[in-house]
Amino acid sequence: MSRTLLDYEPVVGPDAISQLRQAARDLKGATVVHVNSTREGGGVAEILAWLNPLMVDLGLDARWEVVEGHPEFFGVTKAFHNGLQGGEVMLTDRQVEVYEQTVKDNAERLRPLLESADFVVIHDPQPAHLLAACPNRKGKWIWRCHIDASHPNRKVWNYIRSQVQGYDASIFSMPQFAQRLHHPQFIIAPSIDPLSEKNVDLTDDEIKATLEKYGIDSNRPVLTQISRFDRFKDPIGVIRAFMLLNGTVDAQLVLAGGGATDDPEGAVVLEEVKAAANGNPDVNILLLPPDAHRIINAIQRASAIIMQKSLQEGFGLTVTEAMWKGKPVIGGNVGGIRLQVHNHYTGFLVDTPEGAALRIRELMNRPEKMAFMGRTARKFVTENFLLNRHLREYLTLMLGLRRGLANHLMAD
Ligand code: UDP
Repeated sequence: MSRTLLDYEPVVGPDAISQLRQAARDLKGATVVHVNSTREGGGVAEILAWLNPLMVDLGLDARWEVVEGHPEFFGVTKAFHNGLQGGEVMLTDRQVEVYEQTVKDNAERLRPLLESADFVVIHDPQPAHLLAACPNRKGKWIWRCHIDASHPNRKVWNYIRSQVQGYDASIFSMPQFAQRLHHPQFIIAPSIDPLSEKNVDLTDDEIKATLEKYGIDSNRPVLTQISRFDRFKDPIGVIRAFMLLNGTVDAQLVLAGGGATDDPEGAVVLEEVKAAANGNPDVNILLLPPDAHRIINAIQRASAIIMQKSLQEGFGLTVTEAMWKGKPVIGGNVGGIRLQVHNHYTGFLVDTPEGAALRIRELMNRPEKMAFMGRTARKFVTENFLLNRHLREYLTLMLGLRRGLANHLMAD
């Protein structure tokens, strides 16, 4: 069910809504096409699920398209993803050929829409080659990189750069992620939808029933990490941290995640995680379906602490979701997590499983600190990471591009 802007007024206030309506006035009727590679699973799909309907509500002709492909294609794009995050990956001619051919096949279907659109926003590397496959574009094309690409694998980046160089602009989540590209780069942090199934208030009864259904004891504190089973999310580091507590803290660990259709590595990593848990009855590993939004919401709300011990993180919507629910976050000291977790205020930043164990123990022994961090976290998200700010920045960027601000900036 899609919501309208009016639904958000009680959460963000009337001024925020009227600001958006004003910004959208000169964009009415403009065609905006977002393209990514999955409708479900992962942060990008999470954002597009609200961004697109709200752009429509503002009078834009907004669409959301998804590139489709065979497993081999998603194997290549996952290698791009890992490579942009600095992972050691191979990039062969055959992989490039599979990638480009699949995107070209998608272009057969999408070309009329993309070439005539006023704005095309291409999310992440998977659909990036669409620009080359749509030579007669009319509008402005924006590459939106959600990944921490600050220290990419050179070979992968050189290839991706050749694909995105021709865009009119790119967007990164943090200044540190910006790259050497011959077009203007903008910094826009992601955000959450406070009224989505993932974030809306739940009753205590629903939370309790969810815990029961998934075998989580509602009488003992819960530590949770919600993530796709991906090595960069370091689920094994979280298990190590939990094991290091060695019974000194009465708590259970929940690692909950599902797959994304564009992430072929999940099943392998899940097996590694199960092996690391080694049958520990206090470690609850849940493989969830992609639409388990209310379940995740309930588990986050039932948790004492949320972990997000990533080794690389573009932003980490799971962190925002947890903070919105008034939870302290113990997060990896990387990427977008650093934008959200302010050490000692909204949570703790950690570099190692040992550090994570130390902070878990500290927080579990200091409920007043936990409550303070939770309150601070909620306020910080309210002020910085709700969808109205994000939407406003998109509108401003589109207005700027349309009025030639980009050329002006480049001439400077
Ligand atoms: N998520 C989900 N189901 C899962 C795992 C994650 O719905 O099994 C959601 C999670 O709640 C968050 C998003 O997917 O909204 C993950 O975004 P994040 O930025 O944390 O990481 P990404 O997966 O994009 O790297």
